[in-house]
Amino acid sequence: MVQAHLELPDLSPPPVLVVSDLRKTYRETVAVDGVSFAIPPGEIVGLLGPNGAGKTTIVNIILGVLEPNTGSIRIDGIDLLRRRSAALAFTNFSAVYAALPGNLTVEQNLRVFGLIYEVPALAERIEDLLVRFDLVRFRGAKSGVLSSGEQTRLSLAKALLNRPKLLLLDEPTASIDPSAAREIRDLIRAFAEENASAVLWTSHNMYEVEEVCHRVLFLSRGRVLLEGDPKLLPHEHGAATLEDLFVKVARERLHPEHS
Ligand code: ATP
Repeated sequence: MVQAHLELPDLSPPPVLVVSDLRKTYRETVAVDGVSFAIPPGEIVGLLGPNGAGKTTIVNIILGVLEPNTGSIRIDGIDLLRRRSAALAFTNFSAVYAALPGNLTVEQNLRVFGLIYEVPALAERIEDLLVRFDLVRFRGAKSGVLSSGEQTRLSLAKALLNRPKLLLLDEPTASIDPSAAREIRDLIRAFAEENASAVLWTSHNMYEVEEVCHRVLFLSRGRVLLEGDPKLLPHEHGAATLEDLFVKVARERLHPEHS
């Protein structure tokens, strides 16, 4: 009797972000050295690594701001290098170094970016985000005069305007007090779950990463050294906490002969 060989269909949803064999050099510095990873819908991935590991370079390549030497990026199946605006239509980001125009008010900023992203029912969306990010009382204030924490909340509100399928957050809670940071982590988690959005989150706060990320990628000198669940990874590598693991990886980077 011939046995039927049944191939089970792969029912997992296609990844929102696929990064393949990315490489970026600045003269003699190799900032990104063959990085590959994918993020499925709804997953929050932490990009960790010591200063200079290549995190911001990777984020900037995914945003289309920098061109890689080699490698490719697909966002929602679209090749970023070939069809930049189509690939970035459902992407958004927040980073402390990318301040919003300071001479516009909070509300004007959200309106301008909402128009750029062609957000439907924009007025309602803005009201919702002003409430969620506790910005109602600042709606008429010029964003340049806000405190750094308030500016960060505005930048996050702007990042969610178009309900992005891919959200890039470069140290999103860096200047935020612990109570607001906790609320923001909850908001981002809820957003990713409700919208099936993929999130790439860079942070130096290991407690935060453990709280918010489903998976982490440890970068060192432009390469992914370790990858896994932030709650399990430390024990798998003989470290008590994620912070201890981070320190171990960073020291091995400085003293590779002892690794
Ligand atoms: P941090 O945690 O300090 O923000 P990072 O992981 O984001 O660091 P990158 O900013 O991506 O690191 O930098 C990676 C490497 O590339 C570093 O060695 C950095 O000095 C170098 N680099 C980044 N941008 C440039 C540039 N424009 N010209 C030359 N070298 C650069």
